Amino acid sequence: MVSSVQFVHDRAFILSTGDEIMTGQLQDSNARWLSAALIDEGILVAEHGAVGDVEKDLCDAILRAAAKAPLVIMSGGLGPTDGDLTREAICRAADDQLVLDPKLRSELAAMLARRGRELTPRQERQAFRPSRATAIPNAFGTAPGVHARIQTQAPWGLTDVFCLPGPPGELRPMFAAAVRPLLRPPQDRVVLTRLLHVVGMPEAECVQKLGELTKRDRVPLVGITASGGILTLRIRYEAREPNSPQGRAAAAARVDAVESEIRDRLGDHVMFTGAAGAIGGMDHLARQVIEMLRSGSAGPRTLAVVESCTGGMLGEMLTSISGSSSVFVGGFITYANALKERVGVLPETLACFGAVSAQTAREMALAGLGRSGADCCLAITGIAGPDGGSDAKPVGTVHIGLAWGSSLRGADIGSVPEVHSRHFLFTGDRADVRCRACVTALAMLRFLVLRGEASTPKLLWEV
Ligand code: ATP
Ligand code: MG
Repeated sequence: MVSSVQFVHDRAFILSTGDEIMTGQLQDSNARWLSAALIDEGILVAEHGAVGDVEKDLCDAILRAAAKAPLVIMSGGLGPTDGDLTREAICRAADDQLVLDPKLRSELAAMLARRGRELTPRQERQAFRPSRATAIPNAFGTAPGVHARIQTQAPWGLTDVFCLPGPPGELRPMFAAAVRPLLRPPQDRVVLTRLLHVVGMPEAECVQKLGELTKRDRVPLVGITASGGILTLRIRYEAREPNSPQGRAAAAARVDAVESEIRDRLGDHVMFTGAAGAIGGMDHLARQVIEMLRSGSAGPRTLAVVESCTGGMLGEMLTSISGSSSVFVGGFITYANALKERVGVLPETLACFGAVSAQTAREMALAGLGRSGADCCLAITGIAGPDGGSDAKPVGTVHIGLAWGSSLRGADIGSVPEVHSRHFLFTGDRADVRCRACVTALAMLRFLVLRGEASTPKLLWEV
């Protein structure tokens, strides 16, 4: 069993395993998630590694990782198949052997019985653990994790190795429940990271407005990443000072001061603040739009969509947020012109201006508004490419329509629906154009509701 000696985890090594990663079949999202979670705990990530399902390679990688950092977090390879070799590799690296853990076996048998299945010899493999390691319970799957300590020539002597299953839905709660409480962040260092998502502003303008705040020698440091039309600002404070409640409070005050300076400079383009492991900007935008509609404070309470080139992606973004049913009524995927007409776009409009035009976008939005009975409706029509572009309408041309009924801020109750459309030229490939169109549609609605029609800002990629 693992002793209770306490180490300082000042650096971590994240080791992902699986042939799927080595063959490019699977994107390693566990390393990304774990990095953010460790940074939030004040532990720096020294290196990421990935290795295939070969026992010797796994063992070599574990030893290398253990010599590099006193904390190693591994993911994958704990299942019942022959390709799941993490347990064996730990034994090889720690000069240990597998033993059947009777408690694990009975828990596994009970879990399978609840699903109406029996414990097969293959599945029984998961009830084995290296004799000197501890099992980490898994409430969401059959593969328990492993906590081992491995000897190393490095100055710290022993490295903590936590092995978690590959599926993110199992790894994340296991990390939170069983690994996080055992982490020993250094006591002489305070690290604090905060993210701000910014929407509707080009990166150059943002950098210009932030001015000296983004200088590389500042503490806290402010970094910017752009993705899908949303900028993420990372405020990072790191200092050698006692990791005490006072030290952390002082760090939080420094980060608060930078955050409020950023908010002063960027105004309502800033939509969210969270810790390093916070959700991505796109999810957040959808969540915020739903929240704004749900609160009803700004006018419209319900939303519909009419989508052409995005083929349902906007509806997907909205419905991926739990609780969206209270504001999102649904929509229409009107890919063919015939269906655009059936929903309510005039044939003359299509004939005169084409399916990708401001006029069509407006009529799609009005048609969606009328047919759905929602308070507002977003419509997207465009050319996602790679084919279908022309000189007049190149690939990336998208028109987004927004129609709203009587309930928008400033509008008179009972007045006729209002509609406007905006013209964008998105860059990137088909996936980028579709994704950017959805993000932009949500940003349009967000600013319209926040500011009213007259003062919505010009958005990124707007023509
Ligand atoms: P299982 O009992 O589910 O087999 P496991 O620990 O053996 O768990 P793997 O077989 O390595 O895990 O991976 C199972 C699945 O978990 C993969 O098919 C993939 O969907 C997901 N997964 C594994 N590693 C990662 C990773 N690094 N990032 C994201 N997802 C991952
Ligand atoms: Mg597996």
